[in-house]
Amino acid sequence: MEERLQKLLSEKFAKTLDNCSKAELFTALMMLTKEETAKLPKNEGKKKLYYISAEFLIGKLLSNNLINLGLYEEAEEVLKKHGQELSEIEELELEPSLGNGGLGRLAACFLDSIATLGLPGDGVGLNYHFGLFQQMFKDHKQKEVKNPWITEESWLVRQPETFTVDFKDFSLESVLYDVDVPGYEAGCNRLHLFDVNSIDESIVPEDSIGFDKKKIQKNLTLFLYPDDSDDDGRKLRIYQQYFMVSCGAQLILKECEAKGYDLHKLNEHVVIQINDTHPSMVIPELIRLLTEKKGFSMDEAVAVVSKTCAYTNHTILAEALEKWPIAYLEEVVPQLMPIIEELDKRVRKTFQDKSVYIIDENQRVHMAHMDIHYGFSVNGVAALHTEILKNSELKNFYDIYPEKFNNKTNGITFRRWLLHCNRELSDCIESLIGDGFKKNADELEKLLAFKDDEKVLEKLAQIKHEKKVEFKKFMQETQDIDLDENSIFDVQVKRLHEYKRQQMNALYAIYKYLDIKAGNKPETPITLIFGAKAAPAYVIAKDIIHLILCLQELTAKDPEVAPYFRVVMIENYNVSKAAKVIPAANISEQISLASKEASGTGNMKFMLNGALTLGTEDGANVEIRDLVGDENIYIFGKRPQEVIDLYAEEGYCAKDIYKKDKMIHKLVDFIIGKELMAIGDKESLTRLYNELVGKDWFMTLLDTKEYIETKEKVYEDYKDQKTWNKKALINIAKAGFFSSDRTIKQYEEDIWKLKK
Ligand SMILES: *Cc1c(COP(=O)(O)O)cnc(C)c1O
Repeated sequence: MEERLQKLLSEKFAKTLDNCSKAELFTALMMLTKEETAKLPKNEGKKKLYYISAEFLIGKLLSNNLINLGLYEEAEEVLKKHGQELSEIEELELEPSLGNGGLGRLAACFLDSIATLGLPGDGVGLNYHFGLFQQMFKDHKQKEVKNPWITEESWLVRQPETFTVDFKDFSLESVLYDVDVPGYEAGCNRLHLFDVNSIDESIVPEDSIGFDKKKIQKNLTLFLYPDDSDDDGRKLRIYQQYFMVSCGAQLILKECEAKGYDLHKLNEHVVIQINDTHPSMVIPELIRLLTEKKGFSMDEAVAVVSKTCAYTNHTILAEALEKWPIAYLEEVVPQLMPIIEELDKRVRKTFQDKSVYIIDENQRVHMAHMDIHYGFSVNGVAALHTEILKNSELKNFYDIYPEKFNNKTNGITFRRWLLHCNRELSDCIESLIGDGFKKNADELEKLLAFKDDEKVLEKLAQIKHEKKVEFKKFMQETQDIDLDENSIFDVQVKRLHEYKRQQMNALYAIYKYLDIKAGNKPETPITLIFGAKAAPAYVIAKDIIHLILCLQELTAKDPEVAPYFRVVMIENYNVSKAAKVIPAANISEQISLASKEASGTGNMKFMLNGALTLGTEDGANVEIRDLVGDENIYIFGKRPQEVIDLYAEEGYCAKDIYKKDKMIHKLVDFIIGKELMAIGDKESLTRLYNELVGKDWFMTLLDTKEYIETKEKVYEDYKDQKTWNKKALINIAKAGFFSSDRTIKQYEEDIWKLKK
């Protein structure tokens, strides 16, 4: 490797390992990694998976790919010899922000596992030049700026394929970039990212995310999910979605024909996994291509496409289930409407129940309904979520098609979320139980043999401490925030949404602040760590960030409080920051309103890194509890069925709780009290106060009291370090189930059947 690095450095920069810059060294390492990946055998077979997703939150790739290629340690040694640290070089990579959060990160974990298991399966998505926005904090508020991540030398490899995509008033030519996805000590797949050749980055000003939403030819692939708070934003989304699926469908048909397959047997050679409804138009688009270009009858096309497509549902939040007005589709992709109308007509012929129609009485197209009728599989992403789909949200569909419904509990790739982000822990585990867990995550259970071994428990605690010190350094360097590594690190990092209830954690912070001001100083100091981006047009979510940043200032500046309790917020939470904070966490906050978090995957990353979950009975928290047992997790709050019933009977009233409960009254009032008003923005804090008292759609106040009580108990338990460390060990040992290798094996066995 040393020789090859020298050669690359000399050819590209006329430098050597001893006089090159860190940036040059990064580029050379990336080039070497790309060359090695290109040499890997492609995973092939007679049937291939296409995982279509609007998001692939792949994160930085250098270390991950080096690990999967088995080259990480060698690279580290070569660099050391020349006075360089691989961990510092990694920092120079820009993170592609091609996803929002969990859904996009799941797609990335899946690509890693699909390749690792040797399954032929490529990703299909879009190459957003500025990705999701980059978050900055200014005046205690979130500010969004563009996040350019594509550098001259990058992981993207331009391909010769180009497709024409027709819209109503114009056509676009696609450009295809591939990113190689090496499996862990295995073959290789690809992520296909489509782009348009007429894209124009210059229409976005510096330090902004604003641009002319009507200039589709120039803007189509600039941003992920541009602001959809207005009509032009919503139409741009349809342009993006159709462009993605049309390119994907054309690529699929082209690859099949190149291999000489009979398109009438498409389902024997192809399976398309539709990741949420953003790619749902692939169904009518495939039918259109087969009937218009390949001589299929409508019946033939519908039949084969229905056997080829499978749909994953990620949410039961009504506002997140896409329903596109026919008027928009007519304006953007009129060629799809006759197909969608035909699909709807067939549904109406067979079923009387209006709730399963594709086109509703308000002339909107329900994308999920199309997927369920014209796909062969519908899966939820955690056991509880799938039950809610079957029994409530999609009950009318389950009654028609019980055989289509199945559960696939989400997972995470242990390569990134253990081997890479916490090498100390991974090495420690290996020294105890061997390295079998790297390929077979269930072997982590062997750790249970050490649950009463004091030396092992102390070692785990020592590793946790090291990771806390590392994170402290990182926060010092990046945000000039000084953390106390001896405090409890209580962490809530995830997208900002009312249903995830960061506001409830903020109410706890107010509680603790007031308690300390009243003279009750905690024995062990506490650091409450947040990290979250809010959608740019989601006003209340941004108000919650404002509240947290005001609390950060309040707790930091008060000499009576700061030594015991601090609130801090990580700026621009993303995959690399997740990989830094999660190994440092003692407590994993998973406090969504029960029934609302489909699965969660953050919860799994924390568990794997030895943090204890403080959470509601929601998503995969339920399965974590079933695995570790009640004594190794902290579950509180109203249960999912109680919440579902409350919605059904409109039985929740925030104001009643606010009026009746003195403590909650005091905590909520604090938001508009003099302390915070002196720091923050009156309009924003008042709006949040009014929302909590007047509406509180996600029932924060319902669980606040029990949350505070449970959290106090968690902090109390933390004092008994020996018992705490034992619980942490049990969590790590039981995390094997949440390997995405297990999830992908289940997709393969129940849905894809690529190897059969
Ligand atoms: C894992 C992950 C998420 C998902 O977190 P949840 O707690 O499941 O919502 C979001 N963002 C990033 C950067 C992640 O790595």
